[in-house]
Amino acid sequence: MGGTFNPIHYGHLVAAEVARDAFELERVIFVPAGQPPHKKPVIADAQHRYLMAFLATAANPWFELSRMEMDRPGPSYTSETLAHFHAQEPEALWYFITGADAVMEMPTWHAAADIFRHAEVIAASRPGYAVRIEHVTAALPAATGRVHQLEVPALAISSSAIRQRVARGWSVRYLVPDAVMQYIRKNRLYGSGP
Ligand code: ATP
Ligand code: MG
Repeated sequence: MGGTFNPIHYGHLVAAEVARDAFELERVIFVPAGQPPHKKPVIADAQHRYLMAFLATAANPWFELSRMEMDRPGPSYTSETLAHFHAQEPEALWYFITGADAVMEMPTWHAAADIFRHAEVIAASRPGYAVRIEHVTAALPAATGRVHQLEVPALAISSSAIRQRVARGWSVRYLVPDAVMQYIRKNRLYGSGP
């Protein structure tokens, strides 16, 4: 599961956990983006995003965290990340977990067709976004038959809304794990005060 995770929140975590059950996944690897090609505005330092993802995932025996996009210089491309994982375990069936918004954007991604050579895609439902698989496959024929829809308990949570709340001095309790909330405050991320 890729993302900026700026910061990680319960929407990410529940999507991963529900995908794990529904697709009988052996494990879910969270891969925080290094330099996201689509997100130019200020994003928290990769190390902060990684550590928050660590705090949020460490207790789940099936969750893992990878530094591979963060440690690779230059922009992070999902196609290259999946090629890397696929090469590590070519016999495994790899899935890329996305939310409804991200899957609709996939036709615009760098080397998008390659993504489907290495993995199938799980498109998790997300409040406010509709998945139209036929729109994805019309723009990206390689996706045909390789995008699976997944219904997850709806959490209308986004990292952007969390950053806004923090900047206003509002609480993000129950939107992110407590340890992430405390980490944000301790490190004064997203404009949080002392
Ligand atoms: P931002 O608001 O900064 O874009 P975000 O909340 O969308 O942050 P990302 O790191 O961009 O989080 O998302 C990583 C992946 O998780 C994407 O595939 C996204 O669609 C999915 N995702 C994020 N939030 C949810 C949610 N509440 N429910 C289901 N999927 C989600
Ligand atoms: Mg997003």
